[in-house]
Amino acid sequence: MTGPVLDVKNLCVDYVSAQGLVHVVDDVSITLRRGEVHGLVGESGCGKSTLARALLRVLGPPAVISGGSGMREGAELLQRCARQLDAVRWVRMAIVFQGAIDALNPVLRISEQLVDALAAHGVNDRDEANERAKKLVDRVSLPRRVLTAFPHELSGGMRQRVVIAMALALGPQVLLMDEPTTALDVVVQAEILDELDRLRREMGFAVLLVSHDLPLMLERCDRISVMYAGRIVESGPVEAYRSGVPSHPNAAHLPGHPYVQHLLQSFPRLEGPRTINRALEGTPPSLFSPPPGCRFHPRCPAVMPVCKVEQPRLTRLPGQPADHVAACHLITQPAPGDGQST
Ligand code: SF4
Repeated sequence: MTGPVLDVKNLCVDYVSAQGLVHVVDDVSITLRRGEVHGLVGESGCGKSTLARALLRVLGPPAVISGGSGMREGAELLQRCARQLDAVRWVRMAIVFQGAIDALNPVLRISEQLVDALAAHGVNDRDEANERAKKLVDRVSLPRRVLTAFPHELSGGMRQRVVIAMALALGPQVLLMDEPTTALDVVVQAEILDELDRLRREMGFAVLLVSHDLPLMLERCDRISVMYAGRIVESGPVEAYRSGVPSHPNAAHLPGHPYVQHLLQSFPRLEGPRTINRALEGTPPSLFSPPPGCRFHPRCPAVMPVCKVEQPRLTRLPGQPADHVAACHLITQPAPGDGQST
């Protein structure tokens, strides 16, 4: 892996409603390096899908990008007009949505949809487009008979492979995947993610993988960023997260964000003595009026007075690589009675 292929700084996305602005993505920065799989994980409603869709500007009203920048190879993405975006979408960056059935046209055969996608980006020779469509279905290990099928005639896994083939048709360097396998059973999910991994190694694109499934992320990603209530609360190499899972052979109590620690410790153990997993009390805050200071403070077992008034900034974790950061006052201030120095 080398330099960044996507560098997003201080992105803010709001939804305009009759009750006011909902700050769904609030001051989020994220970097995607060439060839890596970067996981973006969080509970439903935390803003992860909105963030991914904002990067390709496929969010419609009432969503508004209210701040920040997104750079790709030195070119600003978020300020581009629709015509300039056409040169980026599918060619440089593509997206795979959760529901393949919704992403495909139900009344067109698969071959027509692939050919249309190629024609929209300048492949106007019908024979050439048909040949490329055949190679695309080969690439995602589908039989060529799918080309003459309608979407409803394919299984969920086959449809998702078609959508992946379409997304890779023009060789993008960045693939945004928004819960791409959530609707599939675990066997098909594993097959598709294995296929994707093979394609990524062959073609060298980077993946921003959006999911609420943290175990899946621990298995598939190089880096993970965790979102809570519209903000990134921790970001770092996957190995640091793996070692926070109690069943990991080198399990360690990491000085990371309490929310992330709780997520990691909530996995059921398959071996060793039985333990009781404790639920995290409370629910994520309303993004109409999130709590001041740390947004996690109403649920945090380690809350301190400062947490209620001051927003913690992403800070490097002690003893961790420079790119492992978390937004928690515990990193810079001692918890009551724990004897840590500031
Ligand atoms: Fe908990 Fe305070 Fe850290 Fe927020 S900043 S996670 S409330 S200890």
